[in-house]
Amino acid sequence: MDITFLGTGSAYPSPNRCASSLIFRNDGECWMFDCGEGTQIQLQRSIIRAGRITKVFITHLHGDHLYGLPGFLNTISFGTIEERDPIELYGPTGLRRYVRTSMDVSRSQLNYPLIINELQITDDMLPEDWTDWQSNYESTEPQHPSEQPGRTITKDENGIWNIFESETFIVQAAPLKHRVPTFGYVVREKDQPGSLNAKHLKDLGVPAGPLYGKLKKGESITTPDGTVVRPEDAVGPPKRGRKIAFLWDTHDASLAAPLLQDVDVMVHEATMENEMKEKCVLNGHSTPEMAGEFARSVCAKKLIITHFSQRYKTSSDNEEDEPTTTKLLLQAKEAFQSDNVVAAADLLTVSIPTLSLR
Ligand SMILES: [Zn+2]
Ligand SMILES: [Zn+2]
Repeated sequence: MDITFLGTGSAYPSPNRCASSLIFRNDGECWMFDCGEGTQIQLQRSIIRAGRITKVFITHLHGDHLYGLPGFLNTISFGTIEERDPIELYGPTGLRRYVRTSMDVSRSQLNYPLIINELQITDDMLPEDWTDWQSNYESTEPQHPSEQPGRTITKDENGIWNIFESETFIVQAAPLKHRVPTFGYVVREKDQPGSLNAKHLKDLGVPAGPLYGKLKKGESITTPDGTVVRPEDAVGPPKRGRKIAFLWDTHDASLAAPLLQDVDVMVHEATMENEMKEKCVLNGHSTPEMAGEFARSVCAKKLIITHFSQRYKTSSDNEEDEPTTTKLLLQAKEAFQSDNVVAAADLLTVSIPTLSLR
């Protein structure tokens, strides 16, 4: 399981830092979170195979998180000869309208099924100057010829949008305060059974196949020669599911706090240094101190800051005495009261190790 940052800049792509996007991978899964302008170029520069991506999650509809999406959807189509799995999109109300309009007016043809799922925004998520989210955001455009029907996901009684549950993952979202309706996503891996000790099983004469599956499920088995093998003899300790949060633009993520408790890895924006807090919050963003304090308040184990203003250079491209992301990193560490903080950088991959259940 790992995260590869494709773009870590705020507002617009620059030669040194692309607009927001990252890839989350686990076994065969390859999911994109946000797709700012320039994401396609970063994909080509990265270790990720774009054709493997099956889901794209959009946090909000600001351009620096979204303008790469129409191009990405088209390029996947060029490169596909055989039939491929559908691409599923998830994002706030308005995503359908944006994708349908850009595909329609550019007469884009897609050779795979596209499914657009919307997280229905609520009145309390609207900017103050908008009173009617339906006229601003709801799609009245016809569906694209390659589109298959998507879902509209609504808030549950706990204030959570339950996006989907698979054999391995539960994906949920909660609202974040920003200048437009915005969601933070949480990917929760289910606890996994321990690994089979294949060598030990071979020594015991257990043939590979369905008996392995029974052991993994916690059942005892009998070998062809009559030996009883208990799961604890052949299976390692179960693995605790990991929990990862993907939070971008926000000046206040507290509404998502219940969902984020004890998160293993929290990706959180930190757009400007602490000394610029007033301007930062006015623009709907967080400082490293805000990110660190929030991560600490929900007992996050690791914090990764991203979405840096283009004014910050990375240490390596700092020719003069300009501010760098190292400054933001140190400020975040101080507020988080831990060194377990990473400043993301374009094309950086962060591994998320397996955790054993005690
Ligand atoms: Zn942004
Ligand atoms: Zn934004």
